[in-house]
Amino acid sequence: MNELSTDRQRRWQRLVAQVEREYRALGAAERDWIAARLQQIADLQSQLQQLFRYGGGEQACGLCSGDCCAKGHNHMTLVNLLGYLQQGQLPPQTDFAATCPYLGPRGCRLSVERRPYNCISFICDKIENRLAAAEVERYYQLEQRLRRLYQEFAERYAGGALTGLLLQEQRLGGRGFLRRKSKPASEQ
Ligand code: SF4
Ligand code: SF4
Repeated sequence: MNELSTDRQRRWQRLVAQVEREYRALGAAERDWIAARLQQIADLQSQLQQLFRYGGGEQACGLCSGDCCAKGHNHMTLVNLLGYLQQGQLPPQTDFAATCPYLGPRGCRLSVERRPYNCISFICDKIENRLAAAEVERYYQLEQRLRRLYQEFAERYAGGALTGLLLQEQRLGGRGFLRRKSKPASEQ
């Protein structure tokens, strides 16, 4: 592992531990808010994956060996990490020497329900061209609903944006990922 990968690995472990501590300190109402949305996100992501399969995505991705995964590294957001933490789990071991730390020899090592928004919402032309028009339309409807849910986290939490957690960590400079942004009038 080179120096950059080692540094990312160290920062990643530190931020996962920080979010885990913050999550454990949340009250029941806040955890319920998170759980309800994570369930909807998991359902939508599973439906998107089903359409991806209809388009022959698994074979196509196998043939091109995860070409698009090589272009974007570390998309995991607060939403995806919370998906693991709320079940008392941690995400799979990272490999920052790889193009994406979650890309393994047989593709993405993250479960479909916890895959980052940028990854699950992307289909390339090879796959889209094999879907019927109605399926493409459905794909984009699901993608819009999913995006709105991710945006709810971005609006609620300081570290909830759709960009990867390592970028969030830099931006926050030690402040909490789950720190609430200003509450709407209805909750004050
Ligand atoms: S989505 Fe398209 S570009 Fe990405 S790995 Fe699959 S076939 Fe390749
Ligand atoms: S998280 Fe998974 S799908 Fe996304 S870039 Fe990494 S390996 Fe690819």
